[in-house]
Amino acid sequence: MSDTGSKSELLAEAETRTVFRTCPLCEAGCGLEITVKDQRVTRIRGDRDDVFSHGFICPKGSTLKQLHEDPDRLRKPLVKRNGVHVEVEWDEAWREVRAGIDGVIERHGRQAFAVYQGNPSAHSLSALTFARGLSQAVGTRQHYSASTVDQMPRQVASAYVFGTAMSVPVPDLDRTDYLMILGGNPYASNGSLCTAPDFPGRIESMRARGGRLVVVDPRRSRTAEEADEWLPIRPGTDAMFLMAIVNVLFADGLADPGPIVAGMVDGLDELRGLAAPFTPVAVAAATGLDAGTITRIAHELAIATTSTVYGRIGTTTTEFGTTASWLIDAVNILTGNLDRPGGAMFPMPVAGGPTTRGRRGSGKGFSIGRGVSPATNMPEVMGEYPVAVLAEEILEESATTGVRALVTIAGNPVLSTPNSDRLDAALATLEFMVSVDIYLNETTRHATVILPPPSPLQRSHYDLALLQFAIRNVANYSAAVLPLDDGQPDEWEILAKLAMLFHGADVGADPAVADDTTIAGLVHHAVSDESSPIHGRDADEILAALNATGQHGPERVLDFMLRTGPFGDAFGAAPGGATLQMLVDNPHGVDFGALQPRLPEILRTPSGRIELAHPALVADVPRLEDAMVRLAEQPMMLVGRRHLRSNNSWMHNIEILVKGKPRCTLQVHPDDAAEIGLVDGGYARVTSRVGSVDAPVEVTDAIRPGVVSLPHGWGHGVEGTRLRVAGERAGVNSNVLTDHAALDPLSGTSVLNGIPVTLAPV
Ligand code: SF4
Repeated sequence: MSDTGSKSELLAEAETRTVFRTCPLCEAGCGLEITVKDQRVTRIRGDRDDVFSHGFICPKGSTLKQLHEDPDRLRKPLVKRNGVHVEVEWDEAWREVRAGIDGVIERHGRQAFAVYQGNPSAHSLSALTFARGLSQAVGTRQHYSASTVDQMPRQVASAYVFGTAMSVPVPDLDRTDYLMILGGNPYASNGSLCTAPDFPGRIESMRARGGRLVVVDPRRSRTAEEADEWLPIRPGTDAMFLMAIVNVLFADGLADPGPIVAGMVDGLDELRGLAAPFTPVAVAAATGLDAGTITRIAHELAIATTSTVYGRIGTTTTEFGTTASWLIDAVNILTGNLDRPGGAMFPMPVAGGPTTRGRRGSGKGFSIGRGVSPATNMPEVMGEYPVAVLAEEILEESATTGVRALVTIAGNPVLSTPNSDRLDAALATLEFMVSVDIYLNETTRHATVILPPPSPLQRSHYDLALLQFAIRNVANYSAAVLPLDDGQPDEWEILAKLAMLFHGADVGADPAVADDTTIAGLVHHAVSDESSPIHGRDADEILAALNATGQHGPERVLDFMLRTGPFGDAFGAAPGGATLQMLVDNPHGVDFGALQPRLPEILRTPSGRIELAHPALVADVPRLEDAMVRLAEQPMMLVGRRHLRSNNSWMHNIEILVKGKPRCTLQVHPDDAAEIGLVDGGYARVTSRVGSVDAPVEVTDAIRPGVVSLPHGWGHGVEGTRLRVAGERAGVNSNVLTDHAALDPLSGTSVLNGIPVTLAPV
């Protein structure tokens, strides 16, 4: 503060503060510098001192202010009365919830409830620490999430091969010499299942040091534009392409995992046999890539000083999503690039996680199908059923098995899951629905009660989930930037109280009770867990140490996780180790360094080895072989796409992000447009097995012939929603076209990329 400033200047300075926080909007986790004056945000820009993002942000990051101030964002609960949502006070909302829960349980029992968790909950510290308790409290087996329209195949493959669903190797971007990206567009997404703020800048640094980028995608995405080479593969054939690379590596004597990894891999010979039919010539017709190119790419990956293959949504949301994810690991292993700098490496999450708990070889083995969905007979995967079957489970007429009520946490499945019109109709039949959401959107318009959490700027933040996939071992905690509104409960309090109501508590229940129960449960479990750094310690002593900090809710849980994590202070046993206070004292984050090799310590398979030919994965190979013939003759195929200013369905109400040229267009190759009679700016009727939409046509050579692309997350302007900006730029819902019956059977994940469609001019 200046000694010579005027009184007004001094006052202005006193009222203005600068705070630092991590952006919670996507997986990149960029550091933000936020200026606040009189409890209003006046500026948001990249935090140049952030240890991970170094000042980078994308256009979405600065719109947290607009999101906070959006008049459509819910500040009070809504209750549906005579078909119309009306604002009520919290006490009244909780009474409605109490009555709704009681009524459904009395009429149908708890199995009549389903729970759906949307993508934003993976970015919420409150949801990551308290939503699980809510899911358990509901007492149903009917769990669904956005995972089965997204990353589930990657997690299933990791669980089979390495032993946990979080054992996902990430590309060591800052040290690699050769990066091949399949079905990912980090110039738009900023990375996914690979937390790397300024992913584009890291790619550019790689190329500046002589590295090579190859992008495999039916579309010449923004990332493909920047690549040294674009391989316009046909949709849904990545697994065949990867198997052909495996074939070449073996056939040409290039398969060499390196001496350390070779000593801990099972299944190499079996993989060699499995890959034998998938020669580059054999897969050429299905993949649309010539055999010579496939062979050359295999050689390049093998002889590069370091290389890494990274696959994302275009590989997971296909009928061979799990197999493609497995084969990405296989290629990284065979080229000697698993678990070494510049290759594909395992993060060491500072707050711990499944990859840091337990010991090598202590896993029980992963399997799916611990139960099936009652009406549709689909196997459980990681505790949930495919969201593609949720509509059928609701429409099931049996009094004993049908879903009659739904809890949603931060999701919009009506826009983001397959055969949307059918799910929309199914939701309209529910007897009761309670949603924790900041918007009255296409899904929550069906809710009996909507309980709005505070805006992201009013919540604290730590990327508990996404730092498990980070390319450096970093930790960054952010306190809430703005205070809660009068009477507004915190997000964790809403989730905890909802859980208590499901447990039978009355509407006056205090979430602090659930909070104390949660932390006590974690501590007691840890002191009895042999792999925990506080094993054998006195639980009361640990609880007293936690309580001495004055923290509660998510902060207390986070403090516990940090202190018992791999870099933690273990409550005094490792002085100087990580604590929440350490992160509070370092608002730009703490960098625990580049990724280090973790094999074999990370392996949680029952054998303690890399199970590269797990029977569940091997069993899918004949299906892949059969598809070589079928996919050689593809009809017109629909794929999705992402835009830098979009975030699935839920940032379309921010004017600054949606203004300009309409982005919800159907991209069509000029040859296809000419043949079908489509013109740029005209409309096409797109029809699939399950639905039809009329979309504006964008003729472009940035897509391979025989493939069209429509972004997802659009289709706003529906009656009963309160999204005025989004409604003015509604777009069409691509998931009206995606088929609920098209799934990757190993993971229950929907096929969103590679939907057969026909086109006609409108
Ligand atoms: S890239 Fe993601 S985390 Fe970074 S500013 Fe943009 S939305 Fe936020």
